[in-house]
Amino acid sequence: MKYFEYIEPKDLAEASQILNEYPEAKILAGGASLVVLIKNNLIQPSHLVNIKTIPGLDQLRWDSKEGLKIGPLNRHRDIFESPLIRQHCPILSEAASKISSPPIRNMGTIGGNICHGEPAADFPPALIALGAKLRLFSTKGERIVAVEEFFVDFYETILSKTEILSEIIIPPLPSRIGGTYIKLDKTNNSIAIVGVAALIGVDEKGNCNYVGVGLGGVAPTPLKVKNAGEILLGKKVEEDLIEKVAKEAQLIANPITNIYASDRYRKEMVYVLTKRALKEAFSKALMI
Ligand SMILES: Cc1cc2nc3c(=O)[nH]c(=O)nc-3n(C[C@H](O)[C@H](O)[C@H](O)COP(=O)(O)OP(=O)(O)OC[C@H]3O[C@@H](n4cnc5c(N)ncnc54)[C@H](O)[C@@H]3O)c2cc1C
Repeated sequence: MKYFEYIEPKDLAEASQILNEYPEAKILAGGASLVVLIKNNLIQPSHLVNIKTIPGLDQLRWDSKEGLKIGPLNRHRDIFESPLIRQHCPILSEAASKISSPPIRNMGTIGGNICHGEPAADFPPALIALGAKLRLFSTKGERIVAVEEFFVDFYETILSKTEILSEIIIPPLPSRIGGTYIKLDKTNNSIAIVGVAALIGVDEKGNCNYVGVGLGGVAPTPLKVKNAGEILLGKKVEEDLIEKVAKEAQLIANPITNIYASDRYRKEMVYVLTKRALKEAFSKALMI
């Protein structure tokens, strides 16, 4: 392991300046993924910039106009246990509960989970289904992007060298909404073979007024099933339309074969699980 310098910035501006000054510097959050990479000499950062010393990055608050605002340093366990999250977007709490083992859930942060760019991570599909946005801070300017636009390729994101994920924003959802996150994995502690998050909202006439479907583990990046809205919005949620969305999910999936599963198996399962998740989401919405 190469020698590195450890820095505790006092605020986001200082952290971003350090990233600007040292191109090989890396942000350190929970360290669950980063430390594994360093120990195995897969990356050799010159500096580790520990953002845990920056106050306010672990906030979690609800605003009736803007929705839920989640600081990137909330750990998987915090997300799982938060009453605010359980009330406003339980699907995120469900995704947190399915991440690996208690030590990882106590250590890893939602910001790190997103920024690591792992295509099979559990939060991104749920965040995609929720229509989440990410606030990216840099001394060179701030921008807000849709979560599905954040991922570029395997472990590659749009984060520029000086940018830091500073907030996750989940806009308010319709009141009558149901959702679920289904994770197909080898064991309870392993990464998803396929992950599907689905949300369906229905209005007083029983027509679909919200749909969000996010996929993990089936492409180089987490995916949004973009045509789901065109297929379902404003219509009665019938079996044939659910089937259509599931076929769309299968169509956009571009999985790889690895030690956990073949590409063909993933492609088949993304269809099966999208159908299952949409049905479950719809029946939950009807119960409200
Ligand atoms: C054994 C094991 C099992 C796992 N199983 C699962 C699983 O089942 N499901 C799952 O989803 N994940 C799983 N993970 C990944 C886990 O969720 C990690 O916690 C997460 O990927 C990284 O979070 P972290 O806070 O530890 O980030 P770190 O390890 O500190 O950082 C990860 C990367 O993100 C960057 N980064 C972190 N925060 C920010 C920020 N705010 N702005 C910009 N860049 C940032 C870092 O520079 C680094 O490149 C597993 C990890 C391990 C080691």
